[in-house]
Amino acid sequence: MRKNPPGALVRPLVQALTPYTPGEQPRIKGLIKLNTNENPYPPSPKVLRATKAAVDGRLRLYPNPTAQTLREKLARLHRCGLENIIVGNGSDELLAMAVRCFVEPVHPSTRGSCTRVQFFAPSYSLYPVLADIHGAESNPVPLNPDFSVPPIADLKRRKQWDFDAALTFVTTPNAPSGRGYATSELDQLCRAQKRVIVLDEAYVDFANQNALSLALKYPHVLVARTFSKAYSLCAQRVGYFVGPPTLIEALQKIRDSYNVNALGQIAAAATLDDLPYYRANFQKVIDTRQKLTRELEALGFRVMPSQTNFVLAKPPEFAAKHWLEKLRARRILVRWFDQTDLRNYLRISIGTRTQAEALVRAAQDILRQS
Ligand code: PMP
Repeated sequence: MRKNPPGALVRPLVQALTPYTPGEQPRIKGLIKLNTNENPYPPSPKVLRATKAAVDGRLRLYPNPTAQTLREKLARLHRCGLENIIVGNGSDELLAMAVRCFVEPVHPSTRGSCTRVQFFAPSYSLYPVLADIHGAESNPVPLNPDFSVPPIADLKRRKQWDFDAALTFVTTPNAPSGRGYATSELDQLCRAQKRVIVLDEAYVDFANQNALSLALKYPHVLVARTFSKAYSLCAQRVGYFVGPPTLIEALQKIRDSYNVNALGQIAAAATLDDLPYYRANFQKVIDTRQKLTRELEALGFRVMPSQTNFVLAKPPEFAAKHWLEKLRARRILVRWFDQTDLRNYLRISIGTRTQAEALVRAAQDILRQS
């Protein structure tokens, strides 16, 4: 049998691809894990009961293909129709589907706006990877230095922003800065944008405004939500889009038939039956965020104002990368991004009060020994 050189079996696009790097999920037990913005509180006891009760002979059956029960509950919660909602295997899956559904891959005969995936920088680092996988073009446009969105007039003047881009992702509140955006400014951006815009609200439950109404107001706006962060359900992989029926219907066409597993559907539906439990947790996270911000500032950190369950902080005395290592040596895991605009910062997830106190003690200790 003739052997092909290994590279020849893989498309050049894939050979050249730099994949997304997820935050570390360490095997070592006993670490304080503040690196991937997971919720420090467990799912509600009702969710655990519902999930356990579903682990039975029904596992041999396929799940409901459209996550019907969950969509009905979401539609009631958001006061919209079933046709306004699609559920995904995490919101990551839906973001990838949006690229496949709305963006043309670059080809000698197709170039320009119709092949463009646009987003602000810094924001969620998955977006350019999704564009690369699809063979589309990325258009990263810098946020202002304080991570605010440049006013429309500035975007027009600077020319780099494409108001006709096939797909625009806006992480709101922003990750990794934590900065929140007013619904009114997002509304202006949506009005200026001619084609599809996804408002990625992965962290919105920790913010004081959300832009869901825009997805029910405009024919080209989708809002992405997830059960991962605020609803303590990362492991189950459930996210959803709310948006206009024409876009949702198009996305439904390209979905894997059984994209959301049965236990995930059950856990997410049970989550919606116990929202007060989660709202109490949001408040705990927000209170801890405020306290941690004050305490880190007192130690000389520059902490970005956050509307999320993490803070981006510029540490004092030495490089952020060294802080990452010194904190790890004290069994605390935070996130550091090896990219120019973020190299001086640490992204720290808001843990429990006890975890935040341990972080502050470790930082004091590191500064004492410096
Ligand atoms: N959007 C943003 C901004 C995120 O940070 C994440 C999590 N890394 C996601 C979407 C995806 O979340 P999930 O796939 O768990 O729903």
